[in-house]
Amino acid sequence: MNPDTRVFHRQLATRPPLAVKGQGVHLFDAEGRAYIDASGGAAVSCLGHGHPDVLAAMHAQIDQLAYAHTSFFTTEVAEQLADQLVSTAPAGMSHVYFVSGGSEAVESALKMARQYFVEIGQPQREHFIARRQSYHGNTLGALAVGGNEWRRAQFRPLLIDVTHVAPCYEYRDRHADETPEQYGQRLVAELAEAIERLGPDKVMAFVAETVGGATAGVLTPVPGYFKGVRELCDRHGILLILDEVMCGMGRTGTLHACEQEGVVPDLLTVAKGLGGGYQPIGAVLAQERIVDAMRQGSGLFQHGHTYLGHAVACAAALAVQRVIQRDGLLAQVRERGAYLASRLQAVLGEHPHVGDIRGRGLFWGIELVQDRATRQWFDPSLKLHARLKAAAMAEGLMIYPMGGTVDGRCGDHVLLAPPFISSPEELDAIVDRLVRAL
Ligand code: PMP
Repeated sequence: MNPDTRVFHRQLATRPPLAVKGQGVHLFDAEGRAYIDASGGAAVSCLGHGHPDVLAAMHAQIDQLAYAHTSFFTTEVAEQLADQLVSTAPAGMSHVYFVSGGSEAVESALKMARQYFVEIGQPQREHFIARRQSYHGNTLGALAVGGNEWRRAQFRPLLIDVTHVAPCYEYRDRHADETPEQYGQRLVAELAEAIERLGPDKVMAFVAETVGGATAGVLTPVPGYFKGVRELCDRHGILLILDEVMCGMGRTGTLHACEQEGVVPDLLTVAKGLGGGYQPIGAVLAQERIVDAMRQGSGLFQHGHTYLGHAVACAAALAVQRVIQRDGLLAQVRERGAYLASRLQAVLGEHPHVGDIRGRGLFWGIELVQDRATRQWFDPSLKLHARLKAAAMAEGLMIYPMGGTVDGRCGDHVLLAPPFISSPEELDAIVDRLVRAL
């Protein structure tokens, strides 16, 4: 452990730079160096830093009431935020369960699914199906549904048993003679086989990120894939849990990424951009029939965390949502996202070590390869992703790198998730600095 730090950092031997201020798309360190936050931290800071409307709402709330435990009270601000989220949610989602972050949201959704089936007299549904190369959080339940073997391996045996199927990974897995739609059908057929193997009446839920984020660059779904998944789940009475902790809350250009797939999940998890980094907050949006089963049955959800519905967190999230609506930021994400994509393609499309550039809205992944023709990855021992992150930091650029061995697959990926307020000039600067770092 570095004697210079008492904070338990992830990298135990090193102390990262000291961040002292955030303003707009920039963070500043103690030496006065500015960094463009091209990753929004980890796809969190959708409105950038120091947004005056969010700060004002938080100040007003903290002056009035910071915290009231939900076993005694609800608050005006939590009710307003829930109203706002329900009014903009996919059809039939009637209730919002607040938590403090993404892993808690996923844990809560898993337990909601379990309790729902107990309440409706189907306790034999004990299995979850999820996808390889997915990330759903670091708590033990979320880690179990997550499909990143490297993160899971040393924590086995995990608390719940989960079957994993293939994600949409077009660049690597779509056959040359297959259309994207045929590839999607093949993936749905693989899911159908997994359901048959487990027994259709034994499966609780299929869990997936609508757009994959934190494991293999950005993994976008192929057309029709989620429609096929939804039909399959409906046929067998299986719940569809979509995890939009990273890709949700406007990041891909619609408030929820599933809107672009034309599917409505039974449970939808959000976090990160919900509070925009101003406060830790996450939520599970639930279909009426799930809430109703609990209301008619035991009358309570047997779960809960101390800080759920924290008033200042709700005030921050409500302000973030109001700014997004008032300033037309979803349209701006689509427009600036198209600009960022065109710049990335123009500058990096022919780069000898860029294999694929993929994404939606302001959510972009770059897959690095040693050889474009064979799509061979770099030797993982080079830790290219970590070196690229360091090179980018030296250029005053924050990017979110991923690498290491994932389910026997390695690879180096970079994630870009800049604030929705990024100007075209700031996006240009992101691309320029990324090229220099590369
Ligand atoms: N789900 C997804 C899709 C995520 O990307 C993340 C975080 N990267 C999580 C869950 C976990 O969120 P948190 O780190 O806030 O617990």
